[in-house]
Amino acid sequence: MKLKDKVAIVTGASSGIGEAVARRLASEGARVALLARRADRLLNIAKELESEHGRECLVAVSDVSDAHSVKKAIELVIEKFGRLDILVNNAGVMFLGSVADAKIDDWRKMIDINVLGLMYATHFALPHLKKEGGDIVNISSVSGRVVSARSAAYSATKFAVNGFSEGLRQEAYKDKVRVTIIEPGAVETELTDHIPDASVKDAVKSWVSSMTALQSNDIAEAVLYAVSQPWHVSVNEIMVRPTEQSF
Ligand code: NDP
Repeated sequence: MKLKDKVAIVTGASSGIGEAVARRLASEGARVALLARRADRLLNIAKELESEHGRECLVAVSDVSDAHSVKKAIELVIEKFGRLDILVNNAGVMFLGSVADAKIDDWRKMIDINVLGLMYATHFALPHLKKEGGDIVNISSVSGRVVSARSAAYSATKFAVNGFSEGLRQEAYKDKVRVTIIEPGAVETELTDHIPDASVKDAVKSWVSSMTALQSNDIAEAVLYAVSQPWHVSVNEIMVRPTEQSF
């Protein structure tokens, strides 16, 4: 029980990496607030966690691209649990495609969710995390360090996450808040289902299935590793690739 008495918020907890992180943190004793848009999924996960671990959960239906909605969700968590120790900023989309063929609205949506959503949640969570010290874990990507064709816009969002995280780290340690970036390579999740261009989607799906991809649990372990270190150890960056991923 590495996280007994801790309270965590996980954004994008309705599927994939976020769901796995929520489950892993709850299994170590944390009370978890599950944040995403799909209420039905969150309610099912919360029910399972409560019956598996006897752990209280909170479903916070929220759209991270709406600052007001994020603020409300964080207020709800404080109202219910009275404290906040861990924020995992995981909600994200990956609209891959070439710059020339892109739909500008897709860029806007991706930046709103991947960058501004993470910044809003951080901003509204910080006053509560500061109270007793805490952790912010930002789920970036290998694409936050390595760029390839058809990922210019997605990479731009993840480079932004990394830049924001480093500036935040330099400010927040003074308030006893640690900041970690996790940079996964290919993980088998629903992320690729939402790629708007069908031919890009097929190409990415076949690339992912050409290797033994990571599972969401692999990333959940990295998150747990970071947040369960002794206080003087700040794990600032973890990149996790499938062994067979070349770039
Ligand atoms: P999923 O599509 O399975 O999960 C994405 C999550 O984000 C869902 O829970 C979704 O919930 C949530 N989400 C999307 N938009 C919003 C929004 N506007 N407001 C609130 N929640 C939202 O993909 P992954 O688990 O793979 O993705 C999680 C993170 O991991 C992302 O940031 C992604 O960039 C990153 N990542 C993933 C990799 C991979 O290979 N899978 C590799 C590197 C990084 P809902 O639709 O219910 O709102």
